[in-house]
Amino acid sequence: MFKLAGIIFCGVLLLLAGCSTVPSDNAEAVPREWVATSAAPAPGVDKISRPAKPPGRSVAPPPVRPNLPPPKISQPAPILTWTSLNRWAAENKIAAPRKLAGLPVASYAITSARGTMILEIGSREAIWRGLEMHLGFAPEIIDDQVFVYGLDLQKNLEPLLLGEPPAFGAGRVLVLDPGHGGVNVGTHSLVDGRFEKEFTLDWARRVKFLLATNGWTVFLTRTNDSDVSLSNRVAFAEAHHADLFISLHFNSAAPDKRQNGLETYCLTPTGMPSTLTRGFSDLWTEHFPNNEFDTENLRLAVRLHAALLRGSGEEDRGIRRARFMGVLLGQKRPAILIEGGYLSNPREAEKIESAAFREKLAEALAAALK
Ligand SMILES: [Zn+2]
Repeated sequence: MFKLAGIIFCGVLLLLAGCSTVPSDNAEAVPREWVATSAAPAPGVDKISRPAKPPGRSVAPPPVRPNLPPPKISQPAPILTWTSLNRWAAENKIAAPRKLAGLPVASYAITSARGTMILEIGSREAIWRGLEMHLGFAPEIIDDQVFVYGLDLQKNLEPLLLGEPPAFGAGRVLVLDPGHGGVNVGTHSLVDGRFEKEFTLDWARRVKFLLATNGWTVFLTRTNDSDVSLSNRVAFAEAHHADLFISLHFNSAAPDKRQNGLETYCLTPTGMPSTLTRGFSDLWTEHFPNNEFDTENLRLAVRLHAALLRGSGEEDRGIRRARFMGVLLGQKRPAILIEGGYLSNPREAEKIESAAFREKLAEALAAALK
């Protein structure tokens, strides 16, 4: 009861805040080196148009569509129809979604043994166990029932509400990727101009040290101030037979000094719009090697994101999807990218500059990988 109240409270906060995560489509905010070299900037093509409302109970056509051959997906075939959430819940033997009272926007909670997800009608933002996450398409109401797009059921609801959480066995290989390095300095701290590359390397070293006695073999894509290309970071993970890949970064919204908080990214599933495009093209039909791990990516992101928020006390800026991050696309293993806070926010930059805070971030990651 208490937990649910907490979740609802978070939901209310989110709604009151107007889901106020500032869209970070300011290209200035992204160091160029962060993105895939293959993703050519195409400003203006990233506007997401929501799929047309499904007419009545009949099934709507998919919001985007392939004249291309279907992607090679070893996972179940993508479901490109709208589905009644009541029917989906019944099929999966969980309770029907229930409407939440007292919220400004119609919201529904669906609960399994794994947790509660809150869906807001007409919004792509959702809450899973109190964490902000993002759907591909906004749920709709038809004849008093919630309808969710099939890809969201497969890629967002099923991985979290159904199935087993990720388990990490002993003797596994983790590749940690300290963002930037060498002449690729990343962003810089508003406090004193120190570079992102320094803080990402320190964070990664701390995680490696903490995991050394924890059954993991940990490799860093760079162990000093060297400039490693994105493709070499992917090749490094491949060469070291990584079971898991985690890229570590810090963020900037300059010249905005207020934005703060922690974000965790995974690759956008094929057929869905991204949460963040930064002005790069966002081709929904593209299928990358890492899309084979859509389910594991999301579960890993949720687990580490929750642990980092708990450990650091930072604001939750959500688990997000993007398909322009060059270090994720080609990964043949679960892979995520974490933005551990904003160096453009004076208060957050001061925290990130403190070794004690970076140790907290490292401890949170290491604990979540136990
Ligand atoms: Zn970075």
